[in-house]
Amino acid sequence: ANHAAGGTYNKFANGVGRVPVGIGSKRKRIVVTGGAGFVGSHLVDKLVARGDDVIVIDNFFTGRKENVVHLFGNPRFELIRHDVVEPILLEVDQIYHLACPASPTNVMGTLNMLGLAKRIGARFLLTSTSEVYGDPLEHPQKETYWGHVNPIGVRSCYDEGKRTAETLAMDYHRGAGVEVRIARIFNTYGPRMCLDDGRVVSNFVSQAIRKQPMTVYGDGKQTRSFQFVSDLVYKFFYEFKARDLKVDGLVALMEGEHVGPFNLGNPGEFTMLELAEVVKETIDPSASIEFKPNTADDPHKRKPDISKAKDLLNWEPKISLRDGLPRMVDDFRNRILNEDEGKGN
Ligand code: NAD
Ligand code: UDP
Ligand code: UDP
Repeated sequence: ANHAAGGTYNKFANGVGRVPVGIGSKRKRIVVTGGAGFVGSHLVDKLVARGDDVIVIDNFFTGRKENVVHLFGNPRFELIRHDVVEPILLEVDQIYHLACPASPTNVMGTLNMLGLAKRIGARFLLTSTSEVYGDPLEHPQKETYWGHVNPIGVRSCYDEGKRTAETLAMDYHRGAGVEVRIARIFNTYGPRMCLDDGRVVSNFVSQAIRKQPMTVYGDGKQTRSFQFVSDLVYKFFYEFKARDLKVDGLVALMEGEHVGPFNLGNPGEFTMLELAEVVKETIDPSASIEFKPNTADDPHKRKPDISKAKDLLNWEPKISLRDGLPRMVDDFRNRILNEDEGKGN
């Protein structure tokens, strides 16, 4: 690919002991599929700020133009409305593949992006998920664990779709020499998260803001480990000072020499009842909870073992749930307010 010259692309990594500068120091052209989504839009901010040329491919299935509207008019940024299930021709250096269509088309999208990576020699990063571990029999989960997934359950399409995506990525790596990177992302929350896709953090936070009871599924004793989005992809300004302690997870993985898979998540483990308590303390001390039946095959517990990412990527999350939750509240309040106004309330 041709690049405009210039730009010290790795400026934020200066002085960082073990940051691998994988593939040159020129400005890169980067595709982010799903870049108008929650995680993707934070990643795009990071890459544009770093000086890369970023092309977002998104069909706005769950993403929103508002997440990237501040980049419109920036010559380094381009937005293509496109469904990754359809083939596409582009010339880039790296592909961050975050678009996750409702499975099984997830597999088709991943296949197309791998085919694209193969044709142009781009590096390909797959955002896989902790769901590949299913309802785990090993705790905490290490990357070596093969998982415990029901192939015919109600949530299998997502889990098995991601497992197949990992398989395809490794096959293109071994068979066609594509440089792949695999991240297994654990439950992530933060500003720009979808308000109504049913995830527990967005549900509890929206419910508490709307003065509705927080819906706890089952007995609420199941656990998850929640990671703040900036730990995954982005550093806030004040964190630059601590840059020798931490590099960005997804970017470090893409730039480094290790294929993975890597668990990227916060090992702090909470029951859903404990999460409700933190939301209550953060947003509204008078918030209440309401029990609802749980979905089938819901994983009982989940907590990443992140030793591999610590050792090989020099990566570690820094923001606890208590510190992270307050940082998403303003964004949620504003959006909920706008929605309500939109309805004429
Ligand atoms: P999101 O729904 O906010 O983002 C996904 C984006 O992909 C959206 O903008 C959506 O419009 C777009 N998209 C969906 N289908 C598409 C298609 N066919 N063509 C083009 N674009 C399409 O979700 P997110 O939380 O930002 O997740 C991003 C990635 O990270 C996903 O692959 C997800 O599986 C993975 N992940 C997220 C979490 C988490 O907790 N947020 C955990 C594990 C894995
Ligand atoms: N593909 C794409 N863009 C490209 C190259 C390939 O979208 O630049 C798609 C292609 O249409 C195919 C998939 O990626 O559906 C896999 O491509 P590959 O070349 O690996 O497989 P083949 O076409 O040989 O079956
Ligand atoms: N959950 C809940 N109330 C909600 C939404 C989800 O108690 O309003 C529970 C859900 O049953 C699961 C956990 O929260 O045990 C995490 O669910 P989520 O969909 O956020 O993530 P995932 O199950 O994919 O890890």
